[in-house]
Amino acid sequence: MHDSAFINFVYLIASALFIFGLKGLTHPRTAVRGNLLSALGMLLAVLVTLVNQHIIGYSIILVGLAVGTAIGAVLAVSIQMTAMPQLVAIFNGFGGSASVLVAGAALVEATLFSDSPSLQLTAATAATGIIGAVTFWGSLVAFAKLQGLISEKAVLFNGQQLINAILAGFSLAIGVWIVVDPSFTNLYWILVVVASILGVLLVIPIGGADMPVVIALLNSYSGLAAAATGFVLSNNVLIISGSLVGASGIILTQIMCTAMNRSLTNVLFGVFAPTEDGPGADDVYAGKVKSTSPDEAAMLFDSAQRVVIVPGYGLAVSQAQHVVRDLSQLLESRGIQVEFAIHPVAGRMPGHMNVLLAEADVEYDKLKEMDEINLTMAQVDVALVIGANDVVNPLARTDPKSPIAGMPIIDVDKSRTVVVVKRSLSPGFAGIPNPLFAADNTLMMFGDGKKALLELVKCLKEG
Ligand code: NDP
Repeated sequence: MHDSAFINFVYLIASALFIFGLKGLTHPRTAVRGNLLSALGMLLAVLVTLVNQHIIGYSIILVGLAVGTAIGAVLAVSIQMTAMPQLVAIFNGFGGSASVLVAGAALVEATLFSDSPSLQLTAATAATGIIGAVTFWGSLVAFAKLQGLISEKAVLFNGQQLINAILAGFSLAIGVWIVVDPSFTNLYWILVVVASILGVLLVIPIGGADMPVVIALLNSYSGLAAAATGFVLSNNVLIISGSLVGASGIILTQIMCTAMNRSLTNVLFGVFAPTEDGPGADDVYAGKVKSTSPDEAAMLFDSAQRVVIVPGYGLAVSQAQHVVRDLSQLLESRGIQVEFAIHPVAGRMPGHMNVLLAEADVEYDKLKEMDEINLTMAQVDVALVIGANDVVNPLARTDPKSPIAGMPIIDVDKSRTVVVVKRSLSPGFAGIPNPLFAADNTLMMFGDGKKALLELVKCLKEG
């Protein structure tokens, strides 16, 4: 078989593996296999590309591999689950910057060694420069916001959208210029600088609470940048894998917007922040909050027939996933029906709660999606909310001015009794008070999630 036919054949197999891998990732039972299939596809694609390249010495590639592997391994072991969104952000950013550098190098090479680089190469290079630079700088800003290096608050100023439109128009104009006259390669780097400023300006007006949606969107952009680089290099597997990332990123973005009941335009151009005229914590809580102890709560659980556990960000922070599994098994051993209600944006990344509970071997069929569990919430004896706040905040239903207005929530307030485990009355991500904590049927069990649940399990066993 001819060299290029063989390479494309292997690329085809790799692409098929990516698609089967993605299919596998759609269900927890097949997710590990899906991951392995995709990784195998990537290994094949990388190997066949490396074997067929004659540009760089293998020793340099090996050094790069070693450095990258070391950084990746350290990150994989040391990263906290709660810092996952910013890790994803920075990975997207690296994807974007790699695309920018590769496309730039390809343009320089093409102008040096050929009289007139093809239209495909120049147009794809310009597209890569714009999308890649926006992705890199946008992702850096997202990372800095989530890591607390800069304020999570939306940075707004007059004429912001006009400036963004001008920068976008300017980048496109330079892109067209590159296509018309590719010989002046410095234009490409000017384009990258302009698009970089655009990347920063596009993300700074977006508040921290919307950052996950932005990260999913930037993930999609990084895929598009990679696909564009695929056209620069005429590399089929890069075009296909980039398109897959681009498409899945945009689907995830859409799912997250739906879960927050917001349009993408609203996320990108609106502001998600506590409003001045919303109820203050004192108005909501003063004299109305009832607290309980693990001892008292254990009695409630003892007499319950159906319990629904609602995990949130605090479960991840306190790493209470194993003890919550023990609690559910203990309750089930006493004939109590236990389910977990999963909100699509509970925690700090999509699927955060599913991952945590899977880590603790909680059976997947016990995890119920929000829409399904809400149908029967009124028949629940005890709803146990662990470190969740915004995703159970009834203000989303009742206060049209609230920053979370219209966001679908888990209707725990409709159950007979609600027990909320958290350390204080501090707000959640959206920064607003939660009337659930002051409701007649709510008992607050203040404390760290894991410690409180350990106590509860102890009391249940002793009682
Ligand atoms: P929230 O952020 O609304 O609330 C989490 C609560 O956990 C806090 O009120 C905090 O209260 C409590 N908590 C923190 N540490 C502990 C601990 N050690 N033990 C017990 N409780 C603890 O979380 P939700 O999951 O309800 O909602 C997620 C929010 O994050 C939504 O607004 C969503 O839009 C947003 N978001 C979602 C992302 C996603 O993709 N899933 C990504 C980024 C943001 P206290 O300090 O009193 O203990």
